[in-house]
Amino acid sequence: MNKINLKSLLYLIIVPFLFAENPPSDKLKLMAVEKVDSQSKLIQEMVDMIFSFGELGFQEIETSNYLIGILEQNGFKVTRGISGIPTAWMAEWGKGKPVIALGSDIDGIPKSSQMPGVAYHKPIIEGAPGHGEGHNSGQAVIVAAAIAMKEIMINEKIKGTLKIWPGVAEELVATKAYFVRDGYFKDVDACIFTHVSSNLAVTHGQAGGNGLLSVEYSFEGKTAHSAGSPWRGKSALDAVELMNIGWNFRREHLRPPYRIHYIITDGGDQPNVVPRNASVWYYLRELDYEHIMELFDYSNDIAEGAAKMSGTELISTRILGSAWPRYFNEPIARAMYTNIKEVGLPVWDKNDQALAKAVQKEAGNKEIKGLPTELDSLRGPVSSKNNWGGGSDDIGDISWTVPTVTLRFPSNIPGLPGHNWLNGISMATPIAHKGAVAGAKVTAMTLVDLFTDKGLVKDAKKYFKNQTKETKYQPMIRKTDKPAIELNEEIMRNYRDEMKRYYYDPSKYDTYLDQLGITYPTIKKK
Ligand SMILES: [Zn+2]
Repeated sequence: MNKINLKSLLYLIIVPFLFAENPPSDKLKLMAVEKVDSQSKLIQEMVDMIFSFGELGFQEIETSNYLIGILEQNGFKVTRGISGIPTAWMAEWGKGKPVIALGSDIDGIPKSSQMPGVAYHKPIIEGAPGHGEGHNSGQAVIVAAAIAMKEIMINEKIKGTLKIWPGVAEELVATKAYFVRDGYFKDVDACIFTHVSSNLAVTHGQAGGNGLLSVEYSFEGKTAHSAGSPWRGKSALDAVELMNIGWNFRREHLRPPYRIHYIITDGGDQPNVVPRNASVWYYLRELDYEHIMELFDYSNDIAEGAAKMSGTELISTRILGSAWPRYFNEPIARAMYTNIKEVGLPVWDKNDQALAKAVQKEAGNKEIKGLPTELDSLRGPVSSKNNWGGGSDDIGDISWTVPTVTLRFPSNIPGLPGHNWLNGISMATPIAHKGAVAGAKVTAMTLVDLFTDKGLVKDAKKYFKNQTKETKYQPMIRKTDKPAIELNEEIMRNYRDEMKRYYYDPSKYDTYLDQLGITYPTIKKK
């Protein structure tokens, strides 16, 4: 507190002699806001374009090429395929310290194809993936903010380095731990991550939700004629089913915040052949590293038990992804929240509100509140006592490696189920565009803080040192694990050709809504 007072006092005394108007950081922030505003067309195009690609984790080929193109046009040096992940990259501009990294996720959700701006289920392509979470919007936020900051750094001769990286396959929490393991954050002083939300917000300290380990168990048995000589077969599917039964009994004896879910990735070939191979894929979620690893131990015991009971062999325990619980930096969050208050929520018009309310109704919500008109407050740590568990994001691994915050920006509609076509409806409409512009302004202003206020980076590092005093980051991925880059390949192969016909063409259409011929908003007639 004393420091701040001293600083403002200094401004009062010295600054009037140096500057006619505002103290320099305010002037730069004003410039940052103007520079983002001047990119609002580019932001709309990026949001709409990536929405139209609708690519799943590890298969973000078009998305990655498109964004790298924009970054290279703007003078960023891009290293492609980092950590052996074809769709990942690290883009860099500038020189020297501080090094500020900006990140946001880029992947979509299976079976969430949806016409934007239409308030009922109307897929663009039935069964195809889509942006049923809203990861099509976050890169627009950071790219526009970085371009704004870059121009300011050139004009004002400010030193420092900007980095931009993508959250590839976030839905599989499958890449960020590898970026950390491979040293891509070694020289980074602070990281701003952005994620779609329905308000403009930032938190600090322990975030709500869980960390997780994603593991696939594969069993091998022996085929036989299922009717002629079933006694000669050993069913790997039996092992998978016994493993699931084991877990479903164990659930009762876990502490409440855990979440465990699975899908069967291989259940055999056809009923008359005893399945030789079968696999089951688990997400094991808990509040902290120790409890997640405890679940992993239980899981391995259950898998071995299932193999024994079915007379099969557990042939592989493959880690497909991992995420540390998230922990965000207080000094940066406070600076960011000051900027959030200055930017404020976008001005929603009656069409935006009409769409939001119709979608909330379609979702079966009791409360139909539309889009928020009041900012969320700055929220602090969620104690483990009050943490009910929930979602995860592998930004957690980065948040335990360098001082990190997540800016949530208002491109989506509140009160929706998540990972659903409903969550895609707003994502290529004015709601998403305005939300991304607001997010980009806050990000650009916070970059001004990080590049011009040396005290902020210092405070952020001090806070981080304290954060990591007792809890030491250790990766959940093992030394031999490799990114599961083949995931989603088959699904995308099945849909890509058809999806190509719907890629956004900004040379012909102002917006993606125009291209699809959608009246905004399209609401069911009563
Ligand atoms: Zn997400």
